[in-house]
Amino acid sequence: MEPHYSHRWSDGSSIDLPCGKVVCVGRNYADHAKELNNPVPTEPVLFIKPTTAVCDMDSGWGVPRDRGQVHHELELAILIGEKMTDADETDALAGIVGVGLALDLTLRDQQTRLKQKGLPWERAKAFDGSCPLSSFIALSMPVDWPALTFDLSVNNQQRQRGYASQMLFSVPQLLAEVSATFTLLPGDVVLTGTPAGVDSLVAGDQVLARLHQGENTLLEINIAVAD
Ligand code: ZN
Repeated sequence: MEPHYSHRWSDGSSIDLPCGKVVCVGRNYADHAKELNNPVPTEPVLFIKPTTAVCDMDSGWGVPRDRGQVHHELELAILIGEKMTDADETDALAGIVGVGLALDLTLRDQQTRLKQKGLPWERAKAFDGSCPLSSFIALSMPVDWPALTFDLSVNNQQRQRGYASQMLFSVPQLLAEVSATFTLLPGDVVLTGTPAGVDSLVAGDQVLARLHQGENTLLEINIAVAD
């Protein structure tokens, strides 16, 4: 059994919000779209992971076996604190209560097959445990979004480095776009897309995920992928 997940602040205290749905954005960094030979989109590609996909990035989580390659996609995760329906960018920013990191674990071989058939991606993206989430940093407004960067190393080799400033759709633009289709509720999380460098994860890999604001490291998760 996965340990029960609930949202936490980075000091370990609990966040008084339920864990809701996770709305994810595909292809929000041009370099990642290119590495998978996908066109750079003119509107964000959206999909949802259910609450059963969420687990705690800081405690033992694993990856599926015998379902082909499992890729890591490290992403900025936005914790929603206010209900948003068709929000404008100003209201969207005001409704954010925290920022953290997520792994959008992806069964890449399955996703490739589903894409070729024009089928939805849920089997490849929304399976149990497909969304390890870090604790969240409460950000004081206004947030200096362009100063946020994040990186992922596996077995001491850096694989991904993301700059919020290089998103094709900025955080407020994304939240406005998402909330035009899916009402966001307090406790929902929005994943903002992954930069280049996605690759396989297997049991035993040592994962280091970090979030920085300028020179300051805000979050650091160092964990081995469980068996
Ligand atoms: Zn992703």
